[in-house]
Amino acid sequence: METSTEGATRPDSRPVAAAGPPATAGPAAVADTVVTTGAPAVPPASLSPSRASDFMQCPLLYRFRVIDRLPEKPSEAATRGTLVHSVLERLFDAPAAERTAPRAKALVPGQWERLRESRPEVAELFADDPEGERLARWLAEAERLVERWFTLEDPSRLEPAERELFVEAELDSGLRLRGIIDRVDVAPTGEVRIVDYKTGKAPRPEYAEGALFQMKFYALVVWRLKKVVPRRLQLVYLGSGDVLTYDPVPADLERVERKLLALWDAIRTATGTGDWRPRPSKLCGWCDHQAHCPEFGGTPPPYPLPVRAAESGGGQQGRMGPD
Ligand code: SF4
Repeated sequence: METSTEGATRPDSRPVAAAGPPATAGPAAVADTVVTTGAPAVPPASLSPSRASDFMQCPLLYRFRVIDRLPEKPSEAATRGTLVHSVLERLFDAPAAERTAPRAKALVPGQWERLRESRPEVAELFADDPEGERLARWLAEAERLVERWFTLEDPSRLEPAERELFVEAELDSGLRLRGIIDRVDVAPTGEVRIVDYKTGKAPRPEYAEGALFQMKFYALVVWRLKKVVPRRLQLVYLGSGDVLTYDPVPADLERVERKLLALWDAIRTATGTGDWRPRPSKLCGWCDHQAHCPEFGGTPPPYPLPVRAAESGGGQQGRMGPD
């Protein structure tokens, strides 16, 4: 994460999951689901870490992304995150001894071409750059991020059990949790490590809990699916060259589950009432929807779902945090 947004949830690296338009999501993004046609209003049946973070950051942002599905422009930072993730993933196709920094950097141009083919809209980022100078700088920064990875991990000594693993688990309540895990390592002893790459900078320690929310979300899904609590959660920050680890215990994941159920409840209430409150913060600077946001003088599009009267206690939606 960038320095100015430490502790928040701006997807400065490749988002782990996304709903709505694939503006900032990688090819492997998944969508939370909400039915927006017909009556009565159908609440979302699934939740990803990105959309959970959206709701915690700003309920109105969640609405714009999941219910209105307003388009968003690709950003250089998020697209570079997608590119770097694809390079790190592809490198593991090579034999262990050949997983070197030069080889990884050499993958960057080809993966950029593949990304442009699969998501032509990303080419818009450099439409005003006929000489290609900004693109060259952007690619060079992607190479620097890839190179930094080798100071943090040694891929020649890793054999991931999974890469870009889509996971989904249904809780007893019926809520489905879903997302994509960058890498899963399994030790000979069976211990599981979940790894996520970030192309931004590590958060300050006081914001580490927010950064770990996504990882605990994944750990909960793995626990529910495999009946084993991951031994370690590991965030690899390529932007600052830091590694943040956390060894969860069942009580951590039970707490996250309770949190997610409360969040889901709030989302369902808002879906039914149409009461999606803006929650302005410094992250508004990265929001694509200021033109529709009352906090910035805008007007949201007509709500596409039938509404019912708000119940008392619905004011909780703006106060939820990661933990
Ligand atoms: S501009 Fe800020 S308050 Fe408005 S929808 Fe976006 S994140 Fe929410």
